[in-house]
Amino acid sequence: MATNRDGSRRAIIVGAGIGGLATATALAQCGWQVEILERAAEVGEAGSGLTLWANGLRALDRIGLGAQVREQAMAETDAGIRNPVGRWLTRTDTAEMARRYGEVVMIHRYDLFDIMRRALPPDAVRLGCAVTGVEHRGDRVEVTHSGGVSCADLVVGADGIHSAVRKAVFPGAPEPRYAGYTAWRTITAHPVPELHDGGQTWGHGERFGIIALPDDRVYMFGVANSAPRLRGPDGEYAELRRRFGTWHDPIPALLDAVDPAAVLRHDIYELPPLSSYVLGRIALLGDAAHAMTPNMGQGANQGLEDAVTLAALLDRIESVPTALAEYDLVRRPRTQDIARRSHRIGVAAHVSSAPVVLLRDALLRLTPGRAMLRSFAPALTWQPLA
Ligand SMILES: Cc1cc2nc3c(=O)[nH]c(=O)nc-3n(C[C@H](O)[C@H](O)[C@H](O)COP(=O)(O)OP(=O)(O)OC[C@H]3O[C@@H](n4cnc5c(N)ncnc54)[C@H](O)[C@@H]3O)c2cc1C
Repeated sequence: MATNRDGSRRAIIVGAGIGGLATATALAQCGWQVEILERAAEVGEAGSGLTLWANGLRALDRIGLGAQVREQAMAETDAGIRNPVGRWLTRTDTAEMARRYGEVVMIHRYDLFDIMRRALPPDAVRLGCAVTGVEHRGDRVEVTHSGGVSCADLVVGADGIHSAVRKAVFPGAPEPRYAGYTAWRTITAHPVPELHDGGQTWGHGERFGIIALPDDRVYMFGVANSAPRLRGPDGEYAELRRRFGTWHDPIPALLDAVDPAAVLRHDIYELPPLSSYVLGRIALLGDAAHAMTPNMGQGANQGLEDAVTLAALLDRIESVPTALAEYDLVRRPRTQDIARRSHRIGVAAHVSSAPVVLLRDALLRLTPGRAMLRSFAPALTWQPLA
């Protein structure tokens, strides 16, 4: 096996998103020499918040970052689903949920990136380096990128939904497919402590979510059935107002507190299930392996689980291909199950015909809180490998 002079093994991680940064930290802690190749000119993502669930927090604890993250985050206090006039259809007992499964917290994405980036040596991330090819050469893997060619004992494709590593390794793999809806995300321009009235609101093919952030600002998202790549004629903020500006309080006031230039919009795509996440010494991880709809807020959390699982298996199994085969065995069924659940929630949230919405809302009102809480168990009871 190719090792460095000090005996450490070398890993190249493609992509410095949440999955890639967590993987680099986890592997470095197990003695791997790590390098992240990142196409962008800088690491991070501003302008939106992120929900970290008990499972993702356990993964962060495993790499020693849980305490810092909790310090920068805020525990969720309000959860449930309302209709557009503000009537609660179902409420989640967040205290009971935290007692059963562990806490749920909200964080600014840039704060999470900052914590993860600082956990790595400054030279671990090579910026402006776009990977174009990955190929086995005997016991090593050769990575072709905009800066030349690099070799490693292990390559992790953490390069997101349109992964170049996935395309190189599995050229016949299915392409991401449009989920049928588009999402806007934004954060209030200033603190609005009086407007922390969280939860989701489901309408006819549209929904809105409100999440309080630690600095008293509020993260919101709107999601609507739409053709892909369709854009509002007078800008995304105007589109958001047009769709949600007459919904219940505090949505109109929250929209008033937004900088119109600070509205992000993304069409939602998901990756059809892959038949493998690994080939030899190359593994896919995070959205590159299982990009899912955001309906459960689990995409990044699953990437964190992937990262600590991969590192733990590589630590206990000497042969890289054997450890990767085990990673595929452990992670693929779980992540594909979560992706399926998330997809199904999207189907329910985005029904648009009036009679079906009436039926859905009635079912939500009739579902006991206990049953709602139980539905979180598959995602939240995950524990890192011992
Ligand atoms: C509207 C919305 C809300 C969401 N909310 C939540 C939530 O609350 N909780 C949650 O857990 N998840 C959420 N998600 C999902 C979450 O954002 C993603 O699952 C997660 O960010 C994926 O992380 P990743 O590291 O796998 O990929 P990415 O974040 O896509 O990172 C990939 C990185 O690879 C780089 N890259 C790409 N190609 C190359 C290349 N060829 N060479 C080198 N570098 C490359 C990219 O520049 C990028 O930095 C949400 C998603 C959306 C769309």
